[in-house]
Amino acid sequence: MSRIEKVNTFVLRHRLAERFRFAQWEYAERRVCLVKVTAQGGAFGWGEGYGPAGVVRAGIDFLAPLLLGRDPLEQETLWQAMFRRSFDFARQGVLLGALSALDVALWDLKGKLLDQPVSVLLGGRKRESVRAYATGLYFRECADLPAALAAEAAAHRAAGFDAVKMKVGLGVEHDHANVRAVREALGPNAALMIDANHAFSGVEAADLARRAAPHGIAWFEEPLSPDDCDGYAELRRKTAIPIAAGECEARRAGFLRLFNGRCVDIAQPDICAAGGLTETKKIADMAYTFGVELAPHCWGTGIAMAAALHLLGNLDVVPGRLEERDPWLEFDRTENSLRDELTQPAFRAQNGRVAVPDRPGLGIEVDQGALERYGEAERSKV
Ligand SMILES: [Mg+2]
Repeated sequence: MSRIEKVNTFVLRHRLAERFRFAQWEYAERRVCLVKVTAQGGAFGWGEGYGPAGVVRAGIDFLAPLLLGRDPLEQETLWQAMFRRSFDFARQGVLLGALSALDVALWDLKGKLLDQPVSVLLGGRKRESVRAYATGLYFRECADLPAALAAEAAAHRAAGFDAVKMKVGLGVEHDHANVRAVREALGPNAALMIDANHAFSGVEAADLARRAAPHGIAWFEEPLSPDDCDGYAELRRKTAIPIAAGECEARRAGFLRLFNGRCVDIAQPDICAAGGLTETKKIADMAYTFGVELAPHCWGTGIAMAAALHLLGNLDVVPGRLEERDPWLEFDRTENSLRDELTQPAFRAQNGRVAVPDRPGLGIEVDQGALERYGEAERSKV
């Protein structure tokens, strides 16, 4: 039996050439905490946590001793040990992001030890590629934001995407003008999602939904505070636009609240925040039971992207039929060298689809040069 010998964390930082904004704050840099879990004999797995990188790192430092000396194949038992240790004070939040990072790394390691892709270990590959939507169309300083967003939308379309997600949350009037400009640039056949990052009151969200609906909206993401479960259910009754949420939610218990409340049509757990692959697989099964689609939130490096692809490669799509719809991969197109340079092979969308990696583990290699270029101090928890 192999034993876990070492846990190392890496905080990486990329300063953006151009700042961009969404409804809640502004990005001037991308920063992430990665974790490498190494077993006896030298096999290792990579994970990453979603959330403030320094806090994720502190969480990994706290949880890592629970893994040392344990069998890396028992990733679910290890999940339970880590969760039991943190349950009293961190049922959700950044400590769960740290747990998620370690869980993803354990899946990568397990796949390498068993010489199987994670998607096979999750239960099997239902598809070799998934359709991807381009995430972009953030706010930025410019004289004519609708025109700038229209130009960016046209570029995504020219790059082969037939689905794009744009930000809303500036205010209903501004948002409606932006949606109209983007829809015109995309043409009628591309899917368009809008994402408010919980910026609206119920009245505002219903108003924007009513005005945006004629422009053909594939989903309205996080219209309301993640705490406002009743508000979500009420908005769902008022609009035919599918309602999506879940990137601020965690674990089965968090999603059960959304499902029991009939809050969403599409659930969006972030694998690197909601409890790792172990827990997100269970959330996916629960979503299926409630007739809710799953479209994981994905905002990180190629490690997060690979984890999402393996989950989606295995996902049982609701409701299930002969000509079933593919699940969606969130494919971040904003500037991010960490995403573009850290892992090999690079993920590419071809005709709007991204291949599910088929090599053992997550199926990616982490580039040492990129770790050094973007890395702050590496830390080892031995
Ligand atoms: Mg979002």
